[in-house]
Amino acid sequence: MKGAYSHPDAFWKTGARLDEYGINAVFVHSGSINAELAARVRSEGAKLYAEFATLNGKGYVEKHPEAWPVNEKGEPAPAATWFLGACPTEPGFRAWRMKLLAELLERYEVDGVWMDYLHWHAQFEDPAPVLPETCFSATCLGEFSRKTGIRIPAGTPAEQAKWILGRREKEWRAWRCSVIADWVGQIRAVIRTKRPGILLGNYQCPWRDADFGGARRRTLGLDLGLLAPLVDVMSPMLYHRRMGRSTGWVGESVEWLSRTLNSSAGKPPLIWPIVEAHKDPGDVNAGEFREALSQGRSGGATGVMMFTIGAVAKDPAQMKVLKELYNRW
Ligand SMILES: [Zn+2]
Repeated sequence: MKGAYSHPDAFWKTGARLDEYGINAVFVHSGSINAELAARVRSEGAKLYAEFATLNGKGYVEKHPEAWPVNEKGEPAPAATWFLGACPTEPGFRAWRMKLLAELLERYEVDGVWMDYLHWHAQFEDPAPVLPETCFSATCLGEFSRKTGIRIPAGTPAEQAKWILGRREKEWRAWRCSVIADWVGQIRAVIRTKRPGILLGNYQCPWRDADFGGARRRTLGLDLGLLAPLVDVMSPMLYHRRMGRSTGWVGESVEWLSRTLNSSAGKPPLIWPIVEAHKDPGDVNAGEFREALSQGRSGGATGVMMFTIGAVAKDPAQMKVLKELYNRW
């Protein structure tokens, strides 16, 4: 898979064609997909994958405060820099998301769905992560009790949060991971009904088990062992500049994920990383872009894409690198 992430409009405006550049897959936000885009992507020989904002609450929770994530003080959690999650157990939000997915699949012949923002409210994409404790809403506390059989003593939401984190932390963290896995299972079920056989992938936090005090599982609720059997492809977001790393980290991360997935039960998902081409922060020049792409498809990876094709289109030197590598591969 030789991919391009984001709408290829800026790329097309340079006069380029997808097949001329060896691009055989395009990943576009579901809201930007229309019949014209789908037809053009197909006519240039590429597959079309829909990026699907899963637990992004912005634009929804303001109008439906019952789905706003609740922190350990019992208050609505503030946005985590530019991201605002949603409460994953709030039934209205969940039904609304699944309806959007069903409509997308009824309308367009996409080749797959890529879950984005598949995690509890937090910010892992910024150099300084924001890792709040959520969600202590009534629906979350009720579900936690129902699923685990744990009775939470009466009290204010803040008191109940304190009790859970102090007395039942292990069960709480495990339950949170199961909630995310359950979302994936339901998305899979919608796909099976509406468009069986297409791929289910996800944009995945690239942190290893020990990074940031175990925050991938602890705060984001991402247990790779639980998720691996449910998805066809994982796309770790290996933005080396944004995360203050070198391009070497990209390859090491692919290696780590590959080892980790191979040691979990069942057939491991494919690995198609997304690497950085963006100019913010720092300048990913053409040489660095070449290195990031090469490291991204190294080891156990069987594909790669970049963030974003729009950024590449602005830089003739990056365009040259892309054309050369993708055609060679
Ligand atoms: Zn909640």
